[in-house]
Amino acid sequence: MKLKMTFIPFIVVFLIFLSFSAASAAEKIDNEKIQTFRGVKGRWIHSDGKDKLKYYISVYGADYSDIVNLNGQNYARNSSIFIPFSEKYIMYLKEKGCSMEEDNGEQFLWPIRNFDRITSAFGDRFRGFHVGIDIPAGKGIPIVAVQSGVVKISKFMEGYGNTVWIEHRKNFTSRYCHASELLVKEGELVRKGQVIALVGSTGNSTGHHLHLEIRCCGVPLNPLDFLPYSSRVKESQYMKTVGK
Ligand SMILES: [Zn+2]
Repeated sequence: MKLKMTFIPFIVVFLIFLSFSAASAAEKIDNEKIQTFRGVKGRWIHSDGKDKLKYYISVYGADYSDIVNLNGQNYARNSSIFIPFSEKYIMYLKEKGCSMEEDNGEQFLWPIRNFDRITSAFGDRFRGFHVGIDIPAGKGIPIVAVQSGVVKISKFMEGYGNTVWIEHRKNFTSRYCHASELLVKEGELVRKGQVIALVGSTGNSTGHHLHLEIRCCGVPLNPLDFLPYSSRVKESQYMKTVGK
């Protein structure tokens, strides 16, 4: 009995530490980071090691069988892994005021978070007219829907490689090309910010990047006119005029 009593302070300190570390990780969660994959709420993580994976699995209270169902048996080897949230974690987010309702704002989202530049703007270039923008990113980096809509195409297309087309309100369409993997099916409803594919270099492509198009009634428009202003886009790319 005496021995057990001496352990109590250690247990208390350990429990305080656990609750503190879980809370501080969750504080950083915002609405944009709550993702849906195959109807399950959770978050995509870009794994660079077992420790990071273990950490997120414990913080989100994810069930191992759910992780295997969503990512496959060899999930630990994938570069992007979807970690589902436990019921308890979803309750915790709700208590924190993190709403998981659809964002109905008109503003488009950048399809890749934390991109650092665009390599080719919309308009004339040496091999004809470029109908979109190119955003370089590592293989397996998640691509998210710029706006909510319905998936019209999700397949391999000549030249474009693995491609997703999403139809939005007001006759807008967004197209995402050269993906390494497609994560949505034709006819599926996707919400703004949902991960739809992973960056790759399929089709006519010289490196891992996303070719993004935004069209209205089929006419290609400059995506930079619709995406939020970013200091990572060069002023000259913003200023680029079409058909001088
Ligand atoms: Zn392109």
